[in-house]
Amino acid sequence: MLVVQKYGGTSVGDLERIKNVARRIAKYRDEGHDVVVVVSAMAGETDRLLKLAYDLVEEPSPRELDMLVATGEQVSSALLAMALNAMGYPAKALLAFQIPIKTDELFGKARIRDIATKRLKEELAKGQVLIVAGFQGITDEGDITTLGRGGSDTTAVAIAAALGADVCEIFTDVDGVYTADPRIVPKARKIAKISYEEMLELASMGAKVLEIRSVEFAKIYRVPVHVRSSFSYEPGTMVVEEDESMEKVLVSGIAYNRNEARISLYGVPDKPGIASRIFGPIAEAGIVVDMIIQTGRPDGKADMTFTVPKTDYKATLKLVNELAPEIGIEKIEGDEDIAKVSIVGAGMRAHPGVAAKMFQVLADHGINIHMISTSEIKISCVIDEKYTELAVRALHEAFGLDRAPEEETS
Ligand code: ADP
Ligand code: ASP
Ligand code: MG
Repeated sequence: MLVVQKYGGTSVGDLERIKNVARRIAKYRDEGHDVVVVVSAMAGETDRLLKLAYDLVEEPSPRELDMLVATGEQVSSALLAMALNAMGYPAKALLAFQIPIKTDELFGKARIRDIATKRLKEELAKGQVLIVAGFQGITDEGDITTLGRGGSDTTAVAIAAALGADVCEIFTDVDGVYTADPRIVPKARKIAKISYEEMLELASMGAKVLEIRSVEFAKIYRVPVHVRSSFSYEPGTMVVEEDESMEKVLVSGIAYNRNEARISLYGVPDKPGIASRIFGPIAEAGIVVDMIIQTGRPDGKADMTFTVPKTDYKATLKLVNELAPEIGIEKIEGDEDIAKVSIVGAGMRAHPGVAAKMFQVLADHGINIHMISTSEIKISCVIDEKYTELAVRALHEAFGLDRAPEEETS
């Protein structure tokens, strides 16, 4: 079997843990499997490097910032390979440029374009365990890029897809995907099996246990993903294609995201072409707009509200302020203290009334809804950030996620 494993920051957080990971990998080798490992930087390292840069200058140059933060994974991959070699298991650490893992030039949020498999396959055939530095890539020019926070998940799934691995195991500090973040909902339950679609929505809505693009890759290339703990041998959560055996529940999980900010534009001319003149430049700046609401006003103008990642908040405000005079926007306002809570479930497709119930639960707890967005299998509400935990716990209980599915009567 060919297995791609990814170990997150906590799992390689200190030398003892690196040894623990090495022992786990050795066990797979003893069982006769080929193993490609993707590692994150040691816990806290990426944050430390980012802080260095931002303490030094206000706006670090993106190219150099990537060169800096990519070093975290160089350290952990080298250490893990050393540990394995010392145990008598031939292992080789590889950086993105040595494979290569080619990306576009969007520093800080680069997209993988191509992964060459020649060297990986040759080394595997020689009996090496390959330890790949996650999170990083290389452009055609030879510049180092990074894939965005949590990007090692994406490296792992993309390599699994490129090599046609039998499974991609994501080892982390929780033992699977839960019905909500177990750190804020103590009653959250582990989900045994979840569909790519639902996982994609949960990840997109903020459940950081898997990075969004890793789920996109898994879904497109049909890579079975197993999310599990690096501290136990218990099975975790399988992320696979939707099938009959999946839990027949209305709502599978609740997610929250505190990393977005809201921007409102008041008194925008209500005529064709305006939205593209506003959102065109924002998109060109590489800023991903999430929710957008436009409302007409009696005076023939419109108000527009949208959300962007908090990290892009200032840049977006600057952009729209520059656009304001030529477009004729009357007033611009922003709010960083918001959160988006979402309920996700394939069962929603067939059931009306889920949204109404969500709004009722929030109302019962005195939580005001600022924005709403829906898809076939998800409903999201933007609320004040201070109510995040209350909202997530209340929704978790109201939709019966505290109880095991067997206890539910149909
Ligand atoms: P790693 O460093 O291993 O990549 P992350 O911190 O990125 O780990 O992701 C794991 C964390 O995701 C967990 O510690 C947990 O707090 C959080 N999380 C959020 N939502 C969920 C969920 N629905 N199920 C499991 N974990 C979740
Ligand atoms: N080290 C990177 C981060 O902290 C990538 C990862 O851990 O997946 O975001
Ligand atoms: Mg992660």
